[in-house]
Amino acid sequence: MKNIERFIFDLDNTLIFQDFTDEKEYFNDIFKNNGKYFNDNLNIWLKEYEATHTRYDREMLRKFLEEKSKLPISKTIIDGWLQVSINSNYEIEDTAIEVLEYLKSKGKNIVILTNFIRDVQVQVIKNSELFPYITDIYCGDYLKPNKESYYESIGNYDIKKCLMIGDNYEKDYLGPRNIGLNSILYDRNDRYKNVKDRIKSLRKIKEL
Ligand SMILES: [Mg+2]
Repeated sequence: MKNIERFIFDLDNTLIFQDFTDEKEYFNDIFKNNGKYFNDNLNIWLKEYEATHTRYDREMLRKFLEEKSKLPISKTIIDGWLQVSINSNYEIEDTAIEVLEYLKSKGKNIVILTNFIRDVQVQVIKNSELFPYITDIYCGDYLKPNKESYYESIGNYDIKKCLMIGDNYEKDYLGPRNIGLNSILYDRNDRYKNVKDRIKSLRKIKEL
């Protein structure tokens, strides 16, 4: 770790584990009998959105979800959902604060690179205990695994002195490697036994 100066963290399911209970309730209230159908498919649609778009945009996402679900989705519904998402409960990874504190004490630079609507992610981070440790948030201009997303998150740093850490094999592990950016897979549930550079707890970063 001595030669790493900038640590680029993914947010969701790496530093933060969101509780989707309120989000599901919100859509059940809005769509009534179709609520379960919408909730069951939302993640699939979001994955499809990410695979077919270069960035997140409220209006583009609204149109996309309306087409996919065949339900009428207004701007108000989207705005309400994202507000619920900002205010949802979440847990911070057990060792995250300890690790960020450690990295900061070593003079390391810490940023976040995440895929979703920018103002939602920024607000979630600002409301969390993570915020004092983070110098920059990269979100929205380019979605991972678009190369530009990684280049943006590297900033003025030497690529060899940066390291990406995240839970998604394509977006946080392979994508960075494809441009020569060091990466570590955060494999909390021990699902990627064949991946060489993986950790099951963020605490392992301190031992690198
Ligand atoms: Mg993630």
